Amino acid sequence: MRNGTGGPKDVSRRNFLRTSALAGVGGAVAAAGMGSAPAAAQESADIAWDVETDVIVIGAGASGLPASIAARDEGAEVIVVEHHFDIGGIAIMSGGNIAIGGGNRLQIAAGQDDSPDQVFARITRPIEERFADRELTRRYVDEQVATFNFLEANGVNFDRHGTDVPREGGPGVNSPTQVRPHEWPIRVAVVSHDQGRNGSGIVRPLELSARNKGVQFLLSHTLTDIYREQPFAGRVTGVRVMEVDRWFQPIHRTLNIRARKGVIICSGGHGHNVAFRTMYDPRLTEEYQWHGQHTAVANAVPSIAAIKVGAALGSTGNGTQEGTGNAPDKGRWAVQDNYVRGAQTPESATFFRHRATGLPAAWAECLLVKENGLRFWDETDDSEDGYFAHALEPTGVPGKLLGGGPVWAIFDADTVTRRGYGTGYPDVDRAGGYFFSGETLEELAGQLHYNTYQLRPMPGDVLRATVEKFNSFVDTGVDTDFARANLQFKIQTPPFYAAWSTPVLHDSYTGLRANTNCQVVDMAGSAIPGLYVAGESLGGIKQHGLGRCIVTGRVAGMECVRAS
Ligand SMILES: Cc1cc2nc3c(=O)[nH]c(=O)nc-3n(C[C@H](O)[C@H](O)[C@H](O)COP(=O)(O)OP(=O)(O)OC[C@H]3O[C@@H](n4cnc5c(N)ncnc54)[C@H](O)[C@@H]3O)c2cc1C
Repeated sequence: MRNGTGGPKDVSRRNFLRTSALAGVGGAVAAAGMGSAPAAAQESADIAWDVETDVIVIGAGASGLPASIAARDEGAEVIVVEHHFDIGGIAIMSGGNIAIGGGNRLQIAAGQDDSPDQVFARITRPIEERFADRELTRRYVDEQVATFNFLEANGVNFDRHGTDVPREGGPGVNSPTQVRPHEWPIRVAVVSHDQGRNGSGIVRPLELSARNKGVQFLLSHTLTDIYREQPFAGRVTGVRVMEVDRWFQPIHRTLNIRARKGVIICSGGHGHNVAFRTMYDPRLTEEYQWHGQHTAVANAVPSIAAIKVGAALGSTGNGTQEGTGNAPDKGRWAVQDNYVRGAQTPESATFFRHRATGLPAAWAECLLVKENGLRFWDETDDSEDGYFAHALEPTGVPGKLLGGGPVWAIFDADTVTRRGYGTGYPDVDRAGGYFFSGETLEELAGQLHYNTYQLRPMPGDVLRATVEKFNSFVDTGVDTDFARANLQFKIQTPPFYAAWSTPVLHDSYTGLRANTNCQVVDMAGSAIPGLYVAGESLGGIKQHGLGRCIVTGRVAGMECVRAS
């Protein structure tokens, strides 16, 4: 099994059992538990524990790493369970821009006037923040400077980067303060060279610090169940985990790990679980991919396990399109996870799952069609409505993602030449069904059903009619359907191409409900002893990305130990 950066504290499954307190019991129970899921809220007294610790953290990303260090700093023994074969979560391929203000050291050095009160005002005033939990958001704001100091104390280096001065503003981030660390030379996710990859500068130093402080990592294992003393009462006592392979598939060997002080769910969002995300918004149908699905998992299994022992969901209004909790994005073509800032190159250790780099989109040189072969929008419209509109029905309301099936970018050989596109490995994913070509438009349309999400064949005559109509707009200079202004290039030279261009889903802004200590609460509003949550698994704070996750991770780690 491959383990992170190969540091001395790496823990293989075998070593993990050998070095753990209850190693002798482990093999037998793990074998006995193979493949059989226990009752969700099985009484803890029945469970034979393989391993014991104080705190179990589920997930080794932006929230899990700070949670583990904070718990360790409070004196707890900590095991981090991670589904992937390396630490980092999607945070490792992030741009590393952390919205964290309130008057941190860099802000003071730059002469920026900021305070927790000002951050609170900034992030609670906008109308779209109305679903946030104000008390939890206040705690998040009040902990920002302390968390900035915590990051520096644990090796995150903000000083060597050219953007040392906190930046004002940032897309999707309401706190106008963003700091960004220097990137780390060792990373598993090699993001395309035109994209920032400073997330490695957060997670690698935190990993190093965690290992140096004695945190143990159990990689390639996934949480399947949470144990509580009684089905809906008493303490959370531990978890059941299952080994997974490098394709994220279960190997079915299980372990029961006891947590003397608590379990902290830091497992990211729910964007990759269609059943879960459509509870909030039924328009988030299966064709939408999730923007980190080949680097980490966000399948909501830990949240579901928590719900099975009584946890409630919080601030669920943020899970709808209107809450923009699952903001779609676009930007790359011909690859399943086409988030523009997550494009990976073949040097990446996770490229075998990504399969292709993808093509930088050329909106002015394509037609966008839905699965029926019809256009639905001005391809060059990059307004907010355009940004959200890729799956609009032709008669749809601007700004609403309607669950409209796959979206294909159609272009021709001239576009390929002009843009210098590669049409094979590693640029496009033909084998996976995200890029097709044909000598005629009919031949092209006839292949698209090989894509998993193209549920019915695209009629070739419809695609041909759509292209011919568009070409006539180029001749006249007037798009009578969608008033597109940029009508430079006809689609006329074979071979013709179809590239996956369906929007990809982002953050989860809703999740488990928690009190201001990040302790999960039940449907009656009572805190569940021993169960904590942070990062995108947490509902209640409507903030994009790393700042929310790192701050709440640290709070959860700290409070979990202090409460016990
Ligand atoms: C390309 C890209 C760029 C981004 N850039 C920025 C940016 O510049 N600024 C910003 O603020 N945000 C950015 N983000 C968003 C940010 O990275 C995420 O919001 C943040 O990492 C979420 O933190 P998390 O701890 O909730 O989840 P993650 O960091 O994803 O960590 C969750 C971990 O839990 C693991 N896990 C899940 N389920 C289980 C299970 N059952 N058992 C065990 N482990 C499990 C996952 O494999 C994962 O490693 C970016 C995201 C992407 C994809």
